Amino acid sequence: MSNQNTNSRALFERAQAVIPGGVNSPVRAFKSVGCDPIFIEKGLGSKIYDADGNSYLDMICSWGPLILGHSHPALLENIEEVFSRGTSFGVPTHQEVTMAELIVSAYHAVDMVRMVNSGTEATMSAIRVARGYTNRNKILKFEGCYHGHSDALLVKSGSGTLTYGVPTSPGVPEATVRDTLTGRYNDIEMARQIFEENKDEIACVIVEPVAGNMGVIPGTKAFLDALRALCDEYGSLLIFDEVITGFRLDFGGAEAVYDVHPDLVCFGKIIGGGLPVGAYGGKKEFMSIVSPLGPVYQAGTLSGNPLAMHMGIQTLNYLKAHPEVYMHMEDKAIHLENELSAFIESNNLPLSFVRFKGMTCLFFKAGAFSSYDDVKDCDTEKYGEFFRIMLSEGILLPPAQFEGWFLSEAHTMQDIDYLISKTKTVLLS
Ligand code: PMP
Repeated sequence: MSNQNTNSRALFERAQAVIPGGVNSPVRAFKSVGCDPIFIEKGLGSKIYDADGNSYLDMICSWGPLILGHSHPALLENIEEVFSRGTSFGVPTHQEVTMAELIVSAYHAVDMVRMVNSGTEATMSAIRVARGYTNRNKILKFEGCYHGHSDALLVKSGSGTLTYGVPTSPGVPEATVRDTLTGRYNDIEMARQIFEENKDEIACVIVEPVAGNMGVIPGTKAFLDALRALCDEYGSLLIFDEVITGFRLDFGGAEAVYDVHPDLVCFGKIIGGGLPVGAYGGKKEFMSIVSPLGPVYQAGTLSGNPLAMHMGIQTLNYLKAHPEVYMHMEDKAIHLENELSAFIESNNLPLSFVRFKGMTCLFFKAGAFSSYDDVKDCDTEKYGEFFRIMLSEGILLPPAQFEGWFLSEAHTMQDIDYLISKTKTVLLS
C-alpha cells in the first residue's frame, strides 16, 4: 500500500492482543486479501477516512446499512435530541410503533413485525416461529447463502465462512444441524427432491432472494416461484432473508421486485440506518404465535432501542419520500456493468461482472453464475492483488471475493467513473 498507514498498523497491533484476530467480525481482518486492515476515523457521503488521514471511495458502506451514504443529513436530524432524552428504557417507545408501521406499509407479506438487534437474531427467530407454527424441525437452506451465525444456519454458509473456508463451523453440535438440509441455489429440481424425501418434516425454506454472500447471484423468478409452490404443497413456510435486499432493491424489497410472497421476512442493515438492528415479520397468523401473544419465546433487552429506531425511521422515511434513490442506484450500477462488462469482453479477461438492480459484484472467473458451484473456484489470489492495488489508489472494495460491491445514494457518477477507470487500469497492469 503506498498510503501512509502507521496509525492503522499500530491500532491493529494493539487490537490483535485483545480481540480475536484484531477484529469484531472476521472479514474485517482483510486476511483473505493479504494485507492488514485499515482503521476508520470517519465517513462522509461516499468516502471514508482512516486513522492516517487517507480517504477512500467506500464500496462497502458498512455491508449495506448505509444506503444513503455516510452521515447523511436526514439521518443526523434530531439525533442529539433523541439521544438527550435517554438511550434505552426497557419499556415501549413511540419509535417502535412508527418503525413497525413503516415496515408493514412496505411489505405485503408483513402484518406484524418484531424488532431484534441483528440479522442473525432475525433469521434465528423467524426459524423458531416456523418450527413452532408447523411443529416440524427440518429447515431447508441453500449452499452459499449466509443467514447469520446462529448454530442451525451455520451450515454450508456464505460470506466470511466462505472466505475463511469454514462454511460449517466447529463448535456447532452435529445434533443441532441434523435438521438443516441444504440445496443448490437456483436448482428447482433439487429442492423438489429434498421436499419429496422429507415429506411432512420441513418447517421452512430460508433463502436470500438475491444471494449477496457468495458475491452477488440473483435468484431466478422461476426458482423463487418454485419455492413458494413447494412450500404451499408441503405445508412449509417460506422465509425470505432480506437482511441485505430489504429496502435496497426497492422500498418493497425482493418481495415486490419478484412478486413472490413469503410467509416470513427477515430484515437488518438498512432498517437501522447504521445502528445495530434486525427484525422479522409476517402475516398475523404466523406472528401471533410469538410471545406474549403466543408460546414461541423471543426477547431482547435492547430490542427496539430508540436510537436505532430513530436512525431506521429517518432512513425509511427518506426512501419512501425519495423513490428516485432506487433509480439512481440502478443507473449507477448499470453504468458500472456496461463499462466493465465491455472492458472484460474486449480484453478477453477471465472475469465476470454481475448486477441485479443496484447490487453488483466482480467475479474473478469467466462464465455464468447461478449457484455456489460456480463461484467456488474464483481466483481469490488475483482478487486479493486487485483489492490491494485498488486500496492504494483510494478505493475500498470488499476485502473478500465473496461479497458484493455496495452502492449508496451518496455515490456520484464521478465516483463511479473513477471506480471504472481505476478498475480498468489495475486490471490491465
Ligand atoms: N442474512 C443476510 C442475508 C446477511 O447478509 C447477514 C449479514 N451480512 C445476516 C443475515 C446476518 O446479519 P448480522 O450480521 O446483522 O447478524
